[in-house]
Formats: sequence, structure tokens, C-alpha cells
Amino acid sequence: MIDIKTGQPADADILVIPVLAERVIAAGSEHVPDLDSLSSLMDSHDFTGKTGESLFVQLPRGPTEELLLVGLGDEADTEALRRAAAVAARKTKTYRVVATTMHDVGIDSSVDAVVVGTLLGLYSFDEYKSKPKESRVAALVLVGGDVAVSEIADAVIVADAVSLARDLINRPAWDKPPAAIADIALGLSADVSVKVYDKTGIEEAGFGGLIAVNLGADRPARMVVMTYSPQDADKTVVFVGKGIVFDSGGLSIKPASGMEAMKTDMAGAAAVMAAVKAIAELKLSVNVVGITPLTENLTGGSALKPGDVMRAYNGKTIEVLNTDAEGRLVLADGLALGIESEPDLIIDIATLTGACKVALGNSIAGLFASTDEAAAIVAAAAESAGEKVWRLPLEPEYRSLIESDIADMKNTAGRWGGAITAALILAEFVGDTPWVHLDIAGPGRSEKSEHYISTGGTGFGVRTLIEVARSLESRHDS
Ligand code: MN
Ligand code: MN
Repeated sequence: MIDIKTGQPADADILVIPVLAERVIAAGSEHVPDLDSLSSLMDSHDFTGKTGESLFVQLPRGPTEELLLVGLGDEADTEALRRAAAVAARKTKTYRVVATTMHDVGIDSSVDAVVVGTLLGLYSFDEYKSKPKESRVAALVLVGGDVAVSEIADAVIVADAVSLARDLINRPAWDKPPAAIADIALGLSADVSVKVYDKTGIEEAGFGGLIAVNLGADRPARMVVMTYSPQDADKTVVFVGKGIVFDSGGLSIKPASGMEAMKTDMAGAAAVMAAVKAIAELKLSVNVVGITPLTENLTGGSALKPGDVMRAYNGKTIEVLNTDAEGRLVLADGLALGIESEPDLIIDIATLTGACKVALGNSIAGLFASTDEAAAIVAAAAESAGEKVWRLPLEPEYRSLIESDIADMKNTAGRWGGAITAALILAEFVGDTPWVHLDIAGPGRSEKSEHYISTGGTGFGVRTLIEVARSLESRHDS
């Protein structure tokens, strides 16, 4: 736990100062005793203030003995600030108390950006290290500006939620059977009521997609429904997260290298759990239902076979020609269950298709939407969270590609446009409810650590879902 508070540079071991391109100090120049010599130091070290740059400076006299300059680039926008805060956090993790003026650059949400960037920059997953490398940082001191304690507290809730999602994603599949994830959901927050469907409950409810995918696994599936309903809320949003705890591909088995990262195939479910927890802790005035179908996709003796037909919760049938296209089967149940709450908006989030990763790369999620308004709400939320999304089409002409000879649809339509045909299958389960599908196969996990992203699960989507809830929140004037 890092203590984050307001204070003075004298309280700290090092002071972080943000610098814009052209070596313009963005905030905190009054704490630098000799600006001329600082300027020539930047010059001699080729430090220009570009994004990602940093420079340690020893001060002969001043409020602290050391400064760290961090570059913000041409313009101090919120995302540049988040990233620079994370760069600073990584650089200063051997200090006990770090002061910063980064939040005082005069842009919106700057306290949130600095706190979230700092805490996520310091994130590491070391549950399985015998000797974890601990950060020494005990406190972050925000110097200057007009900082409300509640702004700091809210930002910590958001950063903790992303860290929770990362922990869940990074945990090995062995240690997160569906029942264990359901137990974590039960303990998320006193303000969230949780219903867990066990094996019998799933069969009685008729979650046929979840049953089908779970056939090849020994450990039973769970369907988890988390509900947060504050007294004064008008709007309701439903989140559905794909929770494939491990995806071997089933009998349509993946090559060995394609399986290495497959403990992360529950990143959507992790994002939903973390977002619901944060929204409850932030006490946002909006009803939220989080749904996570959880199972492994394995190859046991009873495994789902290509050619099998399953019947989803809403009665529609899907012919399964490729058992590695399993996410859409469990999401079909989750979405069909979710619209029963008659929400104003339903959003699913899933590491769904390699095709989306081919289309948009590792940093951008595919966004599909049934209405322009729903797309706009989620795109705006993602923008303010600093999470990149790009809208792809629900092309009606491609519907014919998922027609089956013997069922209502088939679960795969071949290689081309695979992200779109997957979304078209999901569209069969949302009725007329305004719906957005986020395909996070790319940004849900990362192979490198940079700024506030670390290797493994990224927690992508947590902040977007929280921002969606913020944008739907009722404002009751009293
Ligand atoms: Mn798969
Ligand atoms: Mn999968």
C-alpha cells in the first residue's frame, strides 16, 4: 500500500517535475533553485522533454537533493500524463518518498491520471516468486495544485481494480478453477450481491453454451451474476465477460505455442469483476449487472465434438464446427441472460478472435455496436480512459456465412472477416437491447512492459467499463 497525499517537496527524497517538448517545465518550476543551470543540464544530456524521456538531476541546494525530469511531449494530455507518471514511478521505485508536481499541469482528470499511472507503473505480479522484488516506495506526495482527497481516493479505487484484473489474468489456470473465481466474486464488495450457478444450476437454467464448452473439462463450470443496485439509480448497464480459464482449443486443438498465453482467455471476465467492484466502491448511481460464464476448454473424454449442436439459453441452436471458437458459445448464454434485466445498454468484453488482432494489432480493441448511440457512449468512455478502440462493421451480408445446414447457425465461418462473423453470432443473443461488443484479443494481454502496461494481463477494459458507468450515472439534485 502506497500512501498518496498532498504535501511539500521537503517531505520527500526526490521530486518529479514534468517537462514539455522544447524543455518547458510544465509545473513546479518554483521548486527549482537555479533554472538556468537546469536548462543547461537538460541541454548537455540531450533531454528535450519528449514522451518517455527522463533525466535524474542532483541539486546543489534545493528542497530535495534530487530531481527527476520526465518528458510529456508536445502536449500535456491525460494519456501522456498517465504514461509519464508510470515512467517516473518505474524510475523512482528505489526511493521511499516521492514528490511530484505532475498533477498540476492544468488539464482535466490530472490527479486521476498521475495516481493511476503511478500505481499501474509499479504493478508487478509476484504471487509465485519466492523472493518478490518489492518496490521501496511508501508514499507519493502531490505538490501544488488544488487536490481533493476524494479525487485521490477515487483514483486509487480505479488503479486497484485494474491491478485486481491483472492478478486474476496472470494467475495460472491451475489456481483459478471456475469455482475459485466465483468465490472471489462473492467477496468483491458488500454492496454487490452475487448469484453463482453451479453445475446443477447451470443445467437447470439451460446455459447450453457453457455446458457444451465445459464437457471436456473435469472441473465444473460456473455462471456468476454480480448485481450492484444503488437506491437512487435510473439507468442499468449489463457487462458480460468471457471467462475461459484456459483455452486449449478443445478437440480443434491449438498448436503448443498458441496455448502458452491461454490462461489469459478470461481477461473479459476479470475486467467485468474488477469494474463492478470499482463502480460499487465509487458509489456510482447506476445499476450494474456483471455476468461471467466461467469454464476451461479442454479435451477430456466427454469433450464437445465438431459437428455437435448446442442449444443456448434463449433456445437458439449453434452447430459447433470448430471447438476453438468457444468464447461465442458461452457469451451467447451470458448475453441472453443479461438482456433479461432490460438494461439501457449491454456490453460484452472478450479475448474473442485472432482475426481482430490481425486487423487492429496489439493496442486496439475492436468495437461492434448495434446502434450508433451505444457505440458513441463506449467510444467516448474508452477515449477518456486512454484505452484504444476502433469500430468495425456488423455487416449484414456476412450473416449468410454463419448459416448452418442443421441448426440456427454455425459457430465458425472460416478465416476472412473472423472478428465480424464472431460478432454476428453474438448479435443473435441480444434482441433489441442496445449492445456493444469489445474484442480485446489484442490489448487484453501484453508481451512487453512499457509505461503503465506490464507483461501479461493488462486489465484492458476495466477503466472503459467504469467510465461507461460514470457516463450513465444519474445526477439527482437535492
Ligand atoms: Mn478458442
Ligand atoms: Mn478462447
